[in-house]
Amino acid sequence: AKSAGGNRYEIADPEADARTITRYGLTTALPTALAREEFFIEYQPLVNLADGSVRGAEALVRWSHPQHGTLSPDRFIPLAEHTGLIVPLGRWVLDQAVRQAREWEERHADAGPLRINVNLSPHQLHYPGLVSDTVEILQRSGLSPGSLCLEVTESALIGADDDLLKPLRRLAEMGVDIALDDFGTGYSNLANLRRLPVSVLKLDRSFTQGMQRFPVDPVDLRIVEGIVGLAHSLDLSVTVEGVETGAQADQLRELGCDTAQGWYYARPGPPDRLHELALVDAVG
Ligand code: C2E
Ligand code: CA
Ligand code: CA
Ligand code: CA
Repeated sequence: AKSAGGNRYEIADPEADARTITRYGLTTALPTALAREEFFIEYQPLVNLADGSVRGAEALVRWSHPQHGTLSPDRFIPLAEHTGLIVPLGRWVLDQAVRQAREWEERHADAGPLRINVNLSPHQLHYPGLVSDTVEILQRSGLSPGSLCLEVTESALIGADDDLLKPLRRLAEMGVDIALDDFGTGYSNLANLRRLPVSVLKLDRSFTQGMQRFPVDPVDLRIVEGIVGLAHSLDLSVTVEGVETGAQADQLRELGCDTAQGWYYARPGPPDRLHELALVDAVG
């Protein structure tokens, strides 16, 4: 293809490997996929470490591709970011997830409020309609802003100037929680945290993985302990990702982490599974 700008893949090279062609194919198929609603969302429970109760869920998007089967977000989110389609795709995810959360709320009011976490691409922060879209989606669904948490990666916010933080501040003022995702991978200045409108730290999976070794390196433990202490002193709650064993959960509870997410509790799954988990939890 003739390159008309920086946003094109080169496929003229006959040696182009299958991967490049697939990337190209996936990229060009994205708009139709969105129009045909080939995407779907799985929900993974967020669990209160203190008592094991389900607090909510993170929405994780998948693409049910007619030829390639179910594709993980790592395969297509970067392509959607590259083409700008991440904005309508992100809006679709937010709308679906918020409506789902509202439905859970209505189906079992007695199970306590279930929160919904939705990932926000850094590209969406640059989109001027982010705040108004979010307000509209919340209002249409009837979900209260306090039940929504938007996850933004630490790397997206490192060195972010005030213009980039402004939409997040506005959302935070409305009561939407902002989580700093993949925390610990971005070398951010810890003192910098004070300046960000975040209320949740999501400790990256690499920390949890370190706790799978036995014996656990005491330095690793002290690092997590330090981060948790700092987070709590700044009034942030701490969520840990990638909890795969009961031993990890015990350790992380002892270290003072608040919320956990991982295969030990449940893999991402269809919305009804979360409903069941939360219900069992409320009854038992
Ligand atoms: P993330 O936000 O860090 O999400 C957590 C990832 O860890 C998910 O991968 C989840 O399935 C996986 N995971 C959960 N528990 C465990 C565990 O115990 N062990 C291990 N090894 N993995 C676990 P997934 O669903 O493939 O998503 C990958 C990434 O794609 C996400 O990472 C997020 O950055 C991105 N993503 C997913 N959905 C969306 C979306 O709607 N919008 C945007 N912008 N990004 C999304
Ligand atoms: Ca996330
Ligand atoms: Ca994460
Ligand atoms: Ca991650």
